[in-house]
Amino acid sequence: MPAAPGKKKRRVNVRTPEVMERVQAEVANHYESSIVEKVRAAGGVISIGKTTVHLAKQFGFCYGVERAIDLAYASRRVFPDNRIFLIGEIIHNPEVNRQLEEMNIVSLPWQAMNEQYDDLTEDDVVIVPAFGAPISFMDKVESQGCMTVDTTCGDVMKVWKRVRGFAKAGVTSIIHGKADHEETRATASRAAGDDGKGHYLIVLTLDDVDYVCRYLVEGGDRGEFLERFSGATSEGFDPDQHLVELGVANQTTMLKSETEEIQNRVRKALELRDGHAENFSVFDTICGATQERQDALFELLKKEMDMLLVVGGYNSSNTTHLVEIGEKELPTFFIRSADCLISLEEIIHFDLHEKTEINSTSKILSQEESVIVGITAGASCPSNLIEDAILKVFELRGISGDQVSAA
Ligand code: SF4
Repeated sequence: MPAAPGKKKRRVNVRTPEVMERVQAEVANHYESSIVEKVRAAGGVISIGKTTVHLAKQFGFCYGVERAIDLAYASRRVFPDNRIFLIGEIIHNPEVNRQLEEMNIVSLPWQAMNEQYDDLTEDDVVIVPAFGAPISFMDKVESQGCMTVDTTCGDVMKVWKRVRGFAKAGVTSIIHGKADHEETRATASRAAGDDGKGHYLIVLTLDDVDYVCRYLVEGGDRGEFLERFSGATSEGFDPDQHLVELGVANQTTMLKSETEEIQNRVRKALELRDGHAENFSVFDTICGATQERQDALFELLKKEMDMLLVVGGYNSSNTTHLVEIGEKELPTFFIRSADCLISLEEIIHFDLHEKTEINSTSKILSQEESVIVGITAGASCPSNLIEDAILKVFELRGISGDQVSAA
């Protein structure tokens, strides 16, 4: 039977030393790679015959993701016989999510609550993912009396603190992010403030921002504005009333350069409208791990390379931005795993522009002369998948796994 509503928070600590020792060994066994560590130690390059692979200096699991996975594994160890649920996905990586499914950790819908939430009981454990969850979901889980294991990343919580502060001060949050991304949904719920009366507007593209800026300076069609940003504003948002004082924050995994451009454009529009920038506040909330991976890719791109492989889940925001950076410089393929490298000339990959997985023909790997391949991965990609990609590149070029291990 579900517990009566209004139960107290039951956050549980699953990080006991004995449990963590076992969990860390399991996690290492599932996701670490000796080959990746070896290449890292060799300065990020492995070269055999006419084939060279360069790894970015920073890639793969970030501290927030490592912590979330550890806590999910620990939950199963501490509660071997309880039902364990997860709000959505722990992170955006199919391999990691598959492992959790095997541990009988059941994913609940994150877009909207359904009857599964009504069926939760005091004996159930609910894991909150690294992205966090909207306040309404947290309230529901708590009202069912469940035990919660909260893996929300500290960097995401820093953004929540900022937007809560904006709401308290009567400032509308402009959130740079994807309106249908778990983290942005969670952040937006905090931007409404503790009393729920605060306002926010989610913008994704520079086009969105230019539209908002024109509205700030010249006014415009209110109905059209609300239609354009349908699903991306707080309840009761009115562009004629709630665009007076603005604070910009961002989803932690956005492209740094784009976020800065958005800040500049909003500031300039307010200066133009008001004659000063006093109605503008900003806090850069891109997380350190996202920044490091973007910076490391810029460094990697200074090397001479024929192609770039970006490994990761197609719904991973920070991975997507790595692809965008790479595409500007050289042929770039966004692959979910080494299996996407079908043959020397056939690659299955995600096309960001078509928003779908496609099958492409490329002669880069099949060329007789030397081939140099760059590889990077987002914060949600485990090292074992990166190892698979390295091995597959060499294998397709006629170089065995044993040769790679011995190199
Ligand atoms: S990408 Fe950044 S915000 Fe997301 S889990 Fe990793 S460290 Fe935290």
